Amino acid sequence: MNFCVKCGKETENIIDGLCTECFLDGKKLISLPHHVNVFVCTNCGDTGTGEFWETKDLRDAILDAAEGALNINKEAKKLDIESVSLEQDPYTFVVEVTAKLDVKGCPAEDSATTIIRLKNTVCKRCSRQLGNYYEAILQIRGSKEVPHKTMKEALRKVENLVDAQSITNRRLFITKAEEVQGGIDIYLSSISMGKAASKELTDTYCAETKEASKLVGLTEEGTEMYRVTYLVRLPDFQAGDIVQFEGRYFKLVRLSSTGAKVIDITNHRERSVKRSDIPMLKVFVKAGDLREAVVISKGKGEVQILEPSNYSTVDLKIPEDAEIGDAVKVVEINDSLYYVP
Ligand SMILES: [Zn+2]
Ligand SMILES: [Zn+2]
Repeated sequence: MNFCVKCGKETENIIDGLCTECFLDGKKLISLPHHVNVFVCTNCGDTGTGEFWETKDLRDAILDAAEGALNINKEAKKLDIESVSLEQDPYTFVVEVTAKLDVKGCPAEDSATTIIRLKNTVCKRCSRQLGNYYEAILQIRGSKEVPHKTMKEALRKVENLVDAQSITNRRLFITKAEEVQGGIDIYLSSISMGKAASKELTDTYCAETKEASKLVGLTEEGTEMYRVTYLVRLPDFQAGDIVQFEGRYFKLVRLSSTGAKVIDITNHRERSVKRSDIPMLKVFVKAGDLREAVVISKGKGEVQILEPSNYSTVDLKIPEDAEIGDAVKVVEINDSLYYVP
């Protein structure tokens, strides 16, 4: 059995020669530095205390910075922490941190204060972005058959992909995106991002992809630095278009990395087109150019529509749930009108 050198109490729990009560008496269990700098990026608003940057609420960043700088006596175990901040001016906050602790089974509480100073700067990502840093160029291209809307949609897909991945990896960003003759160029901060984006577009549009890399110099560490160009050529057709394949006419339902799903216009049967056969598809009518006709009466298994070009009445086989007054898409093939499913 040991005893406390101050009060003489006999106990097993001796810290620095003292019993727990005497050890805790008037003792600072936690401490904070006089001040802590929190850097705020003036470009994106992200905050950091040094190398590490995060997207978070400024209030949270202030409290987290104070708690992160907290020193706790090695005899104490942290149970709970609460912090409050008081604004002195827009760049100076006093934060008081209160900690509930356990010292050898004895509950204790202590508090400490520090000053958080906000410092305006530009984070590493923004400084690279503002400096036009890029490692990959994604060139989206397509013939005149590819609508501008589809090009923009492809750009948006890349933007969404980068947004999603940059949450966990701050090195990922789009340096710039610009419309050029025949398409859009997207400059990306990383080669892996360029690869992922080109794969995304290939999978979505069944596009053709080519890549070329170029040695652009050496990094600070002396390793070779490459810039990679990904060329993504969108096919002339998109979902909704009427295409010709093997002498028949189909509505293109969807494209994917493995090929296309199509519906035969004459019998409404669905079939697949293999990826390797995709180059054989020929656009017959773009989705946006399909004519619309109005259902004017119904019979057994067919309806009468008003032919849009000459206002004559035509019988068409269309789904039974078509109602009078419905507008339906139609396509003319070899002088006959067909309903587009
Ligand atoms: Zn004692
Ligand atoms: Zn920034």
